[in-house]
Amino acid sequence: MASPTRLPGAGGGAGTAGAHVLALDIGGTKLAAGVVDADGRTHSFLVEPSRTELGPDAVLADLWELGRRAVADSGVAWTAIGAVGIGCGGPLDAAGGVLVAPAHLPGWVDVPVAALAEREFERPAALENDATAAAAAEFRYGAGVGTRNMVYLTISTGVGGGVVIEGRLYRGATGNGGELGHVTVDWHGRHCRGCGRRGCLEAYVSGTSIAERAVEAGMEDGVTAEQVAAAARRGEPLALSVWDETIEALACGLTSIVNLFEPELVVLGGGVTRSGEQLLAPVRERVRVRAMAPAGAAARIVAAGLGDRVGVVGAAAIVFGAAEAEAAERG
Ligand SMILES: [Zn+2]
Repeated sequence: MASPTRLPGAGGGAGTAGAHVLALDIGGTKLAAGVVDADGRTHSFLVEPSRTELGPDAVLADLWELGRRAVADSGVAWTAIGAVGIGCGGPLDAAGGVLVAPAHLPGWVDVPVAALAEREFERPAALENDATAAAAAEFRYGAGVGTRNMVYLTISTGVGGGVVIEGRLYRGATGNGGELGHVTVDWHGRHCRGCGRRGCLEAYVSGTSIAERAVEAGMEDGVTAEQVAAAARRGEPLALSVWDETIEALACGLTSIVNLFEPELVVLGGGVTRSGEQLLAPVRERVRVRAMAPAGAAARIVAAGLGDRVGVVGAAAIVFGAAEAEAAERG
């Protein structure tokens, strides 16, 4: 049995991680669970809707049940599961394992989710911001393998981010750093639902914002970001103007981010990036031209490698990364 010591997301205590991690991902619309090994392979992967309207107790009961099924499906023995990794949107206290007040989970205030998981599964548990965890997953197992300085953005309902500096995940003082979606691209600009300020990158390029801007531009009510992208591919003028504004905002935000970090690699994931080169090619070109030399030329901009399992693989990557950091500290 693993010791019940807390595995802080903030980088320690994972010496008992073992060969496999039960990885859990708490999203606003979906819960996911899987068993992941140290090479990033998923031995099981289960997803179900999250009934967030029922509150934390009911949702966590669903999550624990999904986790048990994920272990059963994986064929991996419980004795080989060393720890539990949990990814969730912030704000959260990674070191303390507490969900402070996640924006996508109304009414969840100060939920000690890591301690509850430890009690439920009798193993150490680590909590991490889901976008930070996804960045760790892409760095260890996905598009970022072999890099040292990498920036990750997930562009879906909102926009999240994560930063790897000199091979280490950057977390900030309390684990809420790397909020790249809230880089300002227009300080007089659109209201940002995520943080309440104006003109954040998220307020232009999230799927929600693309759809909103499309309706404002005169496209039909209820149009989705995916439909806007498809209409732009067909050359429809309204959609083209909305899509070009999306590219412009993303290039603007990414140029600032590239100037700030001079990453070797920018990895873009999330639902909006399913539009592929329709988004990436013009963004790549504009960032290359506009970023300060030589940072702009140095940064490759690529699509994420891990697809819809990134949340679960990320929750496990946090545990394996913490175990390595602890081993390195022990020498
Ligand atoms: Zn914002």
